[in-house]
Amino acid sequence: MSGYDHDLFVIGAGSGGVRASRIAAGHGANVGVAEEFRVGGTCVIRGCVPKKLLVYGAHFAEDLVDAKRFGWQIDSRQFAWPVLRDNVLAEVDRLNGIYHETLENHKVKLYPSRATFIDAHTLDVGGERVTARHILVATGARPLVPDLPGAEFGITSNEVFHLEALPKRLVIAGGGYIANEFAGVFNEFGVDVTLINRSADILRSWDPALRDRLLQISLAKGINFKFNCSFERIEKTDAGLRIHLKEGDPIETDMLLWAVGRRPNVEGLGLDAAGVALNEMGAIAVNEDSATNVDNIHAVGDVTDRIQLTPIAIREGHAFADSIFGNKPWRVDYNCVPSAVFSNPPLGSVGMTEAQARNKLGQVKVFTSDFRPMRNVLAGRNERALYKLIVDASTDRVVGAHMIGPDAPEVLQAVAIAIKAGLTKAQFDDTVALHPTMSEELVLMR
Ligand code: NDP
Repeated sequence: MSGYDHDLFVIGAGSGGVRASRIAAGHGANVGVAEEFRVGGTCVIRGCVPKKLLVYGAHFAEDLVDAKRFGWQIDSRQFAWPVLRDNVLAEVDRLNGIYHETLENHKVKLYPSRATFIDAHTLDVGGERVTARHILVATGARPLVPDLPGAEFGITSNEVFHLEALPKRLVIAGGGYIANEFAGVFNEFGVDVTLINRSADILRSWDPALRDRLLQISLAKGINFKFNCSFERIEKTDAGLRIHLKEGDPIETDMLLWAVGRRPNVEGLGLDAAGVALNEMGAIAVNEDSATNVDNIHAVGDVTDRIQLTPIAIREGHAFADSIFGNKPWRVDYNCVPSAVFSNPPLGSVGMTEAQARNKLGQVKVFTSDFRPMRNVLAGRNERALYKLIVDASTDRVVGAHMIGPDAPEVLQAVAIAIKAGLTKAQFDDTVALHPTMSEELVLMR
């Protein structure tokens, strides 16, 4: 081990850090990992996993209504937030335990403390001096809370899973992934939700037709939207919170949720002491091999702000560990990364949007299917799904798929394989439909 305490020291036991630790240890490295909070990271502890469970919980509100049309008589419909909350938190505890076991099984030494660089090979880990040949920064990101008076009266996605009780009224600041996901969830729980965004659009990077469909369905479900609004200050009142906007009258609410983006966790790590450089976005600057400007220091996941998605952090951690410790160098391919918003209904997307394809390829063909899912028809629910395929007119290759509707993310993952593999529209059409499904629309668009 050439005089170091560890071959690899990882700062942060989230998705990227745990994967890198486990793979490096599997290649025979002596690995230490520091985690100041809970092993598992944002995704497991206060992100994807508990959020998805809340999405499932919320959907019962509509399912129980729709059930009547399918012959089920449900006499009382009552929702107990504490039951769902506690069950979700217990599941998070279970997964946290599994992550601990993974580290133990791979003989990774866990330091339950904060780690700070003393120099490029030395860290202060909870008062202990620890040295390592390689160091991986995988500290993730945290919700951005804007710098304005009273901002501290708002909560973030970190706190939202622990609420004592549901508010009657909720204002959500932002119009991105987190804002739309929690708007859908809390609306189903009967909370009066208002989403306020600074621009004129929700989900700015998404296909406009899908965004518009989500907006129209959300409005029909009773979610309120205010666009082109900026927050001025938040005032605490006897009744709750008063939100002062730069435009228009103040808004009274019981709770405010900040969902205006996430910032890389670079502060307080002593990156200066190690000489690690940041990029213009304030994230750790890395190359395609996740290497920083300092030879023995790498960084993966949200702290590098490439694509803020768990599977990307995991791949980056895996590629790093295989490349440095397994003599198997490889790089993450960021082409065709699928993504979903677990709004109600959810969205899924992979590849180029229509606008991106037109800019890049010139001639494109666009195929759409705008349909009412069978289940919604019988339920009397007037919600239409929309699928869109973007095709390169010169090669016939399908270069993008975008969909909104029930289970869209599940369908999207499968179609992402075809798009990543470079299949043509003719090959889609050549595939026999699986009837009756929603996904058969993918092979029936003419
Ligand atoms: P997003 O980047 O998705 O959206 C941020 C929203 O906040 C935008 O509407 C943006 O406005 C607005 N905004 C940004 N900065 C400010 C500001 N200073 N003041 C007021 N409004 C502002 O951020 P989220 O926090 O929702 O999520 C962060 C990231 O986490 C996502 O981008 C995604 O990568 C990841 N994530 C993924 C999920 C998934 O895979 N399902 C779920 C949750 C998060 P504008 O419209 O002007 O851009």
